[in-house]
Amino acid sequence: MQTYGLDSIHNVIFLSHGGAGKTSLSEAMLFTTGAISRLGKVDEGNTTSDYDPDEVKRKISINLSIIPLEWQKKKINILDAPGYTDFAGEAKAGIRVSEGAVIVIDATAGVQVGTEMVWQYCEEAKLPRLIFINKMDRENADFPKVVDDIRAKLGNRCLPLQTAIGAASSFLGIVDLLTMKAYTGTGAQPKEAEVPADIKAQADSYREKLVESIAEVDDALLEKYLGGEQLNQDDLILTLRKAVIEGKIVPILTGSALQNVCANRLMDAITAYLPFPNEQKVNTSSGLIDASETAPLAALVFKTTADPYVGKLTYFRVYNGVFNSNSQVLNSTQGANERIGQLFMMRGKTQEPVQQVKAGDIGAVAKLNVTATGHTLCAPDKPIKLTPIVFPKPIFREAVHPKTKTDIEKMGSALSRLAEEDPTLTVTRELGTGETILAGMGDTHLSVSAEKMQRKFGVNVELAIPKVPYRETITTSAKAEYKHKKQSGGHGQYGHVLIEMEPKSDRGENEFTEKVVGGTVPRNFIPAVEKGVLEAYPEGILAGYPVIGVKTTLYDGSFHPVDSSEICFKIAGAGAFKKGFADGRPILLEPIMNLKVTMPNDLTGDIISDLNTKRARVMGMNPQGDVNNIEAQAPLAEIQRYAIDLKSMTQGRATYTMEFDHYEEVPAQITQKIITQKQAEKAEKA
Ligand code: GDP
Repeated sequence: MQTYGLDSIHNVIFLSHGGAGKTSLSEAMLFTTGAISRLGKVDEGNTTSDYDPDEVKRKISINLSIIPLEWQKKKINILDAPGYTDFAGEAKAGIRVSEGAVIVIDATAGVQVGTEMVWQYCEEAKLPRLIFINKMDRENADFPKVVDDIRAKLGNRCLPLQTAIGAASSFLGIVDLLTMKAYTGTGAQPKEAEVPADIKAQADSYREKLVESIAEVDDALLEKYLGGEQLNQDDLILTLRKAVIEGKIVPILTGSALQNVCANRLMDAITAYLPFPNEQKVNTSSGLIDASETAPLAALVFKTTADPYVGKLTYFRVYNGVFNSNSQVLNSTQGANERIGQLFMMRGKTQEPVQQVKAGDIGAVAKLNVTATGHTLCAPDKPIKLTPIVFPKPIFREAVHPKTKTDIEKMGSALSRLAEEDPTLTVTRELGTGETILAGMGDTHLSVSAEKMQRKFGVNVELAIPKVPYRETITTSAKAEYKHKKQSGGHGQYGHVLIEMEPKSDRGENEFTEKVVGGTVPRNFIPAVEKGVLEAYPEGILAGYPVIGVKTTLYDGSFHPVDSSEICFKIAGAGAFKKGFADGRPILLEPIMNLKVTMPNDLTGDIISDLNTKRARVMGMNPQGDVNNIEAQAPLAEIQRYAIDLKSMTQGRATYTMEFDHYEEVPAQITQKIITQKQAEKAEKA
């Protein structure tokens, strides 16, 4: 492949509700440009973009894949993003490094939840976009109906730039509304024809709306238009391009990926209307700068894959300068140099070795040491930081249980490599329950991650809903005295302390202080008392959960000149703490989460009544157009399966975010159940 620069590359992300046909569309484009000689099919598992075994098995895209194409002396890097909320992190990363997007919509389904979600992502990123109504060859495909749906749900700035000729089995091609020419047939060389008489009126009406909207973007054009003058074709195209880049118009195109009808026209539209990298500023931590090939290197890492055979592969987008093979770069995020070996251009899973990757383009490099997704790579003597990618926070947690002894040993490193590859995945160890917790965007995300662990690292695990990380605390102040005294044979043992314990109003971290006067507990033994208290924290006396929110003050005690030792005072400290805790009216605390649920208005009632069964408190509601946002607080114990429940309750039409907020007392009857269960578990172990 020839090299292209800032004025001849388009980085375009394909986004949609899952299954609208992004992968098939990129396959049709590859075929049309002659890059592949056989059209792969998603249903046969042989497309260029979906190559991962998980994707082939599930017939959905899970990973962001890069597909470079050459079209009309331009390079188009397609970023094929997964359409499921579970893999939103990949979509967000792809959006960050693209100058434009194509939103693919299924002609038989119209605007779906996933469409609205990715639309929202593009709005946040102010990404210029095109809409492609796909699957016009399918039964029940209805172009005008989908156009109306799009305009109603995504806004009136979405305007047909093409209209469909026929539908379903009689779908033939499109009419370009600017040139008023018809194109039929498949592949790269469609036949040009006159606009069929039966759709002439429809096409005229769409064209009128389009021309009027284009004219409104430019004062000079508007004057001519209002004066009844015929507008020049080139002016219309130029002004439409400006309107698309400014987000004032989103052109609607159509076709069929499967039949390869009009993938070529979509590529024409990408090169005609979406911006080049040099038309956009580069976002750095110290402000916006111009994109330039002669400036020092600045590249953003937007994807990392870990593979036991190939090793680690780092995908980057070059914003400025030239990235060279066999060079040295600075990872400015980490403040460490990286040695660069061979650079590659990627096409799906195929790597093509290249000498350099220039500003505007996308490349990959293997075996970097300190670099992860979101980091900036730059010239060692010209440090610069690109604005990092903002990833969604994990919302669904599962406990990971290794199946065998060898799995236990290998699990830790496999998990950390997975998390390195996927910034929406976190691994933590839960204090109190001892479980390893994998957190991500949903149940599919976690089960795909577990399968990946098995396939790539040979580690077998089971996923389960985690135990709730309860805590224990006291509700009143209490004083406690503990004397550890033993007289056995020669040397005796003696440690004696008096402590006071108080509940902290914020239920924050435990605290230890002392106000011993007159050396009743000698200075050198005070740290031992503290150690004893500290060691009592991890296991409370109610049900063995960690203690939080207790302030302990050592205020008195006594010692023996010969028999006292550190160990004796440690025992005394721990003993006093346990006594005081029991007298402080202890309670069980549970994590309360902040929950934000976004749903179409008609589902509000169902979601609220479901929340009411989950001990949730609805804190507020914020309707915005067709969608409603509910803010609530709910105990983690009740919403650990919320990702699954919400999906099945709403057929995936609602999304949510969830974050820990604070601890609250567990209701008495539930506390009793938890204590009984804990005692039974203990008895079973003994
Ligand atoms: P993605 O999830 O958006 O990448 O969608 P895919 O490309 O994987 O397509 C999902 C399903 O729709 C597959 O079964 C495709 O064969 C099918 N499909 C994609 N495009 C078309 C099309 O234009 N017409 C028809 N009839 N089916 C299509």
